[in-house]
Amino acid sequence: MRSFKPFKDTAGRLELDLRKELNKFMFGASDEIGKGGLFILRKTDTRSGIVYPNSEADLIQCECKDRPENEPEIDYKCDKCDGEGYLFKDIIVPGYKTNRFEYQDVEKYKQWGKHTISMSFFYVEYFDPISHYDKILEPTIDLEGKIVTPVEILLSHNIHMAERFRGDHGRTEYWRLSCFSE
Ligand SMILES: [Zn+2]
Repeated sequence: MRSFKPFKDTAGRLELDLRKELNKFMFGASDEIGKGGLFILRKTDTRSGIVYPNSEADLIQCECKDRPENEPEIDYKCDKCDGEGYLFKDIIVPGYKTNRFEYQDVEKYKQWGKHTISMSFFYVEYFDPISHYDKILEPTIDLEGKIVTPVEILLSHNIHMAERFRGDHGRTEYWRLSCFSE
């Protein structure tokens, strides 16, 4: 009778370690060329006790937004919030970007299916919550892949959907962010 032998030399763990695999994919290994880059996650601050913001009321408004129009100054960007109107932290994250064109079906004020829009997808290694109040900024990178200082922002991406990928034990491994680019 034929019987299946278990694999040898496994230490009991057969599942991929996603975090390790993604890191290998992005930064390379002896058998793989790195394909990733560095991006800036503009993480909007939330009020104390709020882990995941559900509305703008959960965010911390910048004092520049506290004007009669309730809009941040756009022409002369505020030093504190860079014109965002809310306080945030910029965090450097490793990631991988892809682009594609999609039918316009998400913005209510435009007719469905009439236009195609450019969307970018980012796979970023980040282990805490990301919401659509956060942004991905693409900085200028030097030939070695390092962020040029002083930081120069090439593109700013509004996060439309943030999808969390978890590995074993529910640990967040990375995020897939679908973004509209400004
Ligand atoms: Zn401000």
